[in-house]
Order: sequence, then structure tokens, then C-alpha cells
Amino acid sequence: MRTLAVVGGGAIGLAVAWRAAEAGWSVTLSDPEIAAGASWVAGGMLAPLSEGWPGEERVLGFGAAALARWPGFAERLTARTGIPLFVADQTLTVALDQADAADLRTIADFVAGYGHELRLLDRAGVREREPGLARTVRAGLLADEPAIDNRALITALRAAAEMAGVRVDADRVDDLAALDADRVVLAAGAASARLRPELPVRPVKGEILRLRHRPGAAPAPGRVIRARVHGRALYLVPRGDGIVVGATQYEAGFDTAVTVGGVRDLIADAEAVFPAIAEYEFAEASAGSRPGSPDNLPLIGALDDRVIAATGHGRNGMLAVPLTADAVLALLDGDSLLETEVADPGRFLARTTAGSTSAAADRSPRTREPVGATADGTPHTRGPVHAAADRPGDGFRTDTGGIG
Ligand SMILES: Cc1cc2nc3c(=O)[nH]c(=O)nc-3n(C[C@H](O)[C@H](O)[C@H](O)COP(=O)(O)OP(=O)(O)OC[C@H]3O[C@@H](n4cnc5c(N)ncnc54)[C@H](O)[C@@H]3O)c2cc1C
Repeated sequence: MRTLAVVGGGAIGLAVAWRAAEAGWSVTLSDPEIAAGASWVAGGMLAPLSEGWPGEERVLGFGAAALARWPGFAERLTARTGIPLFVADQTLTVALDQADAADLRTIADFVAGYGHELRLLDRAGVREREPGLARTVRAGLLADEPAIDNRALITALRAAAEMAGVRVDADRVDDLAALDADRVVLAAGAASARLRPELPVRPVKGEILRLRHRPGAAPAPGRVIRARVHGRALYLVPRGDGIVVGATQYEAGFDTAVTVGGVRDLIADAEAVFPAIAEYEFAEASAGSRPGSPDNLPLIGALDDRVIAATGHGRNGMLAVPLTADAVLALLDGDSLLETEVADPGRFLARTTAGSTSAAADRSPRTREPVGATADGTPHTRGPVHAAADRPGDGFRTDTGGIG
């Protein structure tokens, strides 16, 4: 039997381990803190269309392909485990001022050019669908983009992986070469470059809140709500028992402490969009390290004859779980997927080999100013509400519209 070692037990590693075990591989997954990384912290939006923006065609193409794989993946995982995953069917991006409303039209036009129809709503259209939103909301963009409960996903993946025979070992891997397996999948999230330093993957800190509904409080929105408030992006993701409010975004190394400023801004911005939030119970504030890449696309592909990278998913790791698992399974079979060609790590490694760009240069965002906000939470200048927060110059504190 072919043996596979999976390094990292976040959503990516668990999904790969589960699918590979079902495909006949003998799988061992190593992680000293299984399911404690970014995947546990995340919001769970699956919203690649709402954040489309001219010039980001490859990110849109990858995200749309990733979204298309979710229904089949979720059906299969829920069939194995009995755990439902979806918490919303739609995403509504709202505009609080004229400039944001213009951005919504830009997004709609851009993604329509790629065959994805989003609906522009006026003030009345927004209120009809989400009456609990602030009266200052003047327009909206509605997309059939769902959201999942990330913690339900992790729980289900663990269960499915164990049912399929995956062995879990709690050791930290320090040397991929020492692993006793035919093939290795590197899925160590933001820490992946510690094991393969040539990979331009860096931690991008994100803080996020979990608020619980209380008796008498207005019900949570039925959809994912995304907005920009005072130049900072914000999202509200419904949960069975409340709302997830996200998320800040900083370049802060591997720091995962929750800051007072981050919590303060998230609450204030959430209240500006959904005033009833003040009646909710403050249940949790947490932070995680997104595995960021220089071009906001992940790194999925062979690093050598033995090791496959499945990392660098940045703000879109939940979205990309099914597509990444399918791509890795194809690679293990000596095949590849057309949709993940843009994610081939060779786009960075080749440049390094050719000498035109060093690995250090590829990792330059490590030393860049915090993306989207200063470390003390001072808002930067405005940018499009959809914006991918890692885009240089965007000036966003949060995941802005960007997924997670
Ligand atoms: C605040 C926040 C909100 C987000 N919201 C969204 C969202 O709404 N939608 C979306 O699509 N994405 C979102 N994301 C991004 C998403 O969470 C990540 O892209 C995704 O979780 C990455 O999954 P992963 O399995 O690669 O990494 P992780 O979940 O971080 O898992 C990596 C694992 O590797 C392990 N590991 C590390 N080093 C080693 C080693 N040497 N040996 C063994 N194991 C090791 C760690 O212990 C960890 O368990 C969000 C992220 C954050 C932080």
C-alpha cells in the first residue's frame, strides 16, 4: 500500500488526508496542535465573486472554480459524518456611501464579464431582504455565495479522516526528509516555510469575534453581510447561535494575541452596519495566522518527486478546501487539474532558480508595512469595498471584503 505523510492538521491537511485515505493511501497526519490553526478561527465565507475586481482575473478564476466544488464536497462529507456545514446561502455586500455604491457596480460589471451574475439592490431592496441593517445602508450587491461553519467543517473532516483510517500523530515535524512515507503533503499553513524555506508563505494575522444571540435581541442577518466602515472592511457571518464578526488583518509575524484596538474597531464597525449587535453576548475573541502568499493565490503542486505543497491559501483557505484536496489527489495520481495550474509553486521557485528574483525578494511582504491598517488600528485611506487586502496600497485594516 502506498504511504502518505500529511504535515499539518488544519482544514487543508485534514481534507487531503481524508480523501487520500479513501482513495487507498495509508495516511499518517502529523500535527502537535491539530485543528488549532487558522482553520479554527476563520469566518467561513465562500465569496470569491463578491470580491472580484478588475485586474484580478486569476484570483477570480481560481475562486470561482473553488466555489463550484463545494456542493459535491459538502454533500460527501455530510453523508459520511452527518454534520451539516452551510450556515448561509447568499452574500450581501452593502454600501454606506456613494463611492462604495460605485464600487459595487464595478464588481458586478467585472464578474458579469466572466459569466457570473450578481444582483445590484437599491436601498429598498436591501431593507426588504435584511430589515435589521442600519438605515444608512444605501445599496447592496447580492451573490449566491454561501458560508460554512468552519468549526463544523473541522469536526467533520477529523471524523471522516479517522473513519477512513488516517492515523494522527501529535509530533511536530522538523524535517520532511525524515518522514517515513512514499509521498509527503506539506499543509502546515502559515508555518509551511519553516519546513521549506523557498516557499514564499508568510503569516498574516487576523482577529475575529464570535457573538451569541440573546433572548429578545433582533435575529442575526440571514446572509453574510460585508461592508466598509470608516475605510475598514467588515463582515458578519451568521451562525446557528449568533454571528461571527471579522476580521482585522496585520503583518505581525506569528503573533496571535487579540488586541484591544482590534476588538474595539470590529465592534464599532459591526454596530454601524447592524445596530442590534449591541444586544448580543460577547462570546469569544480570537486570532489566527493566515498563510499569505505574494499574489493571493495558494501554492498547490509538487516541490520535488516526493513532496507536494498545499499551502499559502491566505484569506481563502476555507473556500479552497475542496479544490485543493482534489488537486492534491490528482497530483498523487500523477495527474493535474487545469483549475489549479495558476497555483503551481513553480511560479515562484522558477524565478528563484533563474536568478532573476531571489526567494527573499518573493517573501518581501514579510517586511512590508501592515496591510490595510497600522498596528494600532489607525484606519488607512479608503479602497474598494471588495478589495483583496493583500494588494499593495489597498489601505485596508481588515479582510475587507476579501474572504476571511
Ligand atoms: C480571522 C480569519 C478569518 C478567516 N476567514 C476566512 C473565511 O471567511 N473564508 C475563507 O475561505 N478563509 C478564511 N480564512 C483563511 C483560512 O482560515 C485559512 O486560509 C485556512 O484555514 C488555512 O488552512 P491550513 O490548513 O492551510 O492552515 P491551518 O488551519 O493554520 O493549519 C495548519 C496546521 O499546521 C500545523 N503545523 C504547523 N507547523 C507544523 C509542523 N512543523 N509539524 C506539524 N504540523 C504543523 C499547525 O499546528 C496547524 O494545525 C480566515 C483566516 C483568519 C485568520
